[in-house]
Amino acid sequence: MENVPEGGVSVVLGPRQRLLGSWYPRKVVSRSTAHAVGWVATCLVAGCGPVDDDGGDANTRVLSYANDIRLVRLAANQGVQATLVADGVELLDPVERGIDLLTRRTTLMQGFWSLHVDFVPRALVGRLTIDYPNGRRLVREHDLFVEGPSDEGTAGASFYWLLAPEEVVAGMEYRARILEADAAAPAPLYLDGEVPPVAPLHGPGELVAYDSTLRLTAIIVPILHRFGGCERKPEVTEGDLLAMATALEQLNPVHVAELTLGDPVAFDGSIGELKGFGPILAELAATRAANPVAPEAFYYGVIDSCDGYPAGLAGQAITIAGAPTMGNAQERIAVGRWNGSGANAASTFVHELGHAQGRMHVRCSGGEAGIDPQYPHSGGRIGTWGFGIHDRWLRPPSGRDYMTYCGSEWVSDYGWQYSLSVLDVLSGFSSASAGELQALVAGILYPDGTSQWWLQRGALDPLAFNAELVDETHPGEPLAKAVVRPVADAEHTFYVQAPWNAQWERAAARGLHIRGNGGGSGQSTVSRAISIAQLDATSWSGR
Ligand SMILES: [Zn+2]
Repeated sequence: MENVPEGGVSVVLGPRQRLLGSWYPRKVVSRSTAHAVGWVATCLVAGCGPVDDDGGDANTRVLSYANDIRLVRLAANQGVQATLVADGVELLDPVERGIDLLTRRTTLMQGFWSLHVDFVPRALVGRLTIDYPNGRRLVREHDLFVEGPSDEGTAGASFYWLLAPEEVVAGMEYRARILEADAAAPAPLYLDGEVPPVAPLHGPGELVAYDSTLRLTAIIVPILHRFGGCERKPEVTEGDLLAMATALEQLNPVHVAELTLGDPVAFDGSIGELKGFGPILAELAATRAANPVAPEAFYYGVIDSCDGYPAGLAGQAITIAGAPTMGNAQERIAVGRWNGSGANAASTFVHELGHAQGRMHVRCSGGEAGIDPQYPHSGGRIGTWGFGIHDRWLRPPSGRDYMTYCGSEWVSDYGWQYSLSVLDVLSGFSSASAGELQALVAGILYPDGTSQWWLQRGALDPLAFNAELVDETHPGEPLAKAVVRPVADAEHTFYVQAPWNAQWERAAARGLHIRGNGGGSGQSTVSRAISIAQLDATSWSGR
């Protein structure tokens, strides 16, 4: 018979040899473990049968391997897909797997097949066997009528097994098989090195996963907006917090998102057109500085403003946060519209917390400023299959990263790994010491030339200094170095931090000037006369 293997060259081969080249991966042959080599030798004998048991236990049916089908790929998805097995071979290199998995997180395992040309559509069983370090075995089966080729997107065209968090532990070993559903079906013969539909081919794979507990802690602060006889404050219920936590947990590599409701913060007057959410961010920052909360916590204001301002904005973060330290807790502040409920607030919340984790924008709509040059997928696409651990929906790779301004948002593999590196550090704070924090003066510079200032504590990274403060009466000698960064999702608005000192306090009464670049990808120049004389460090209670 004539078959056309990959590459389009027609060859004439026996029916079972046709797919040998791609079926039998070279990687397996070259694996140096004695285990793998021994197995290969066994199955190169013409007519050899299944090489191990059927992966069942006392409660499962005895079934034979399915004929004319191969189990070529296994994937695990906790939000973003990781490939565990490709071409039958376990991927040991984390880069090849795509992303890092977590233990104790809901996991969708999927098995994808390829069919021999002689395959006859029929009922098959996908059996996933997991052996735990404590000796327990978990067997999970998916009965499926296999009609045609495997397909990533259609739930009906892959074998899938959903593992609960407690079923995903360190050191567990997995292996999947495709079996005939008909117990009376004859066991297939394997000729000339052909292999049964089992993955990994050489033996059980070990789930390599991140095992420390990862938390995302956020305090939700309702803004009481009072303006022109109107008073509005979001009434945040337990259900609202749950909706926001659910969104965070689906889109971040965490075991748990812990949200608590903070005391309301009042803001009087119109927010106006020119300053965006800046005045609210300044109020939140001053409140957090005066009432310190856990340094790892994200501090998020929610507002339904009386006058609808700021027009056209959904939310802002005080800045694109630097690498997480106990000294830059004041960079984990953001605000967003409430839109009446936690469910309606969730998408902006996730985006702004992305900035507060240090993420820049991903280009998609063209309206995004401050683009991350490292982002690997074009058009802002997530680039791999997504899966919601709470809503159980699959998302195609054409979806957009949540740091774009486009819709259909999900987390990319890139975003997942980025957040993992940040949340890993933040989750370790509770057992660490804060060290020495210094008094800082912080402020927001607005596009209209005005600015707002407050005092806070923190520790600035010396490498981040990109501006200097100058006493206008002695312009040649910089008074202090400063860190100036853009306010996220704002235009021409900058967040400034600088060490406070007594010399500066005296100079402040005479007037200061800040000069430098505004950070971010645009490196906007900042040169501005500022007045911070109203700050009184001696009466400040922040610690
Ligand atoms: Zn943004």
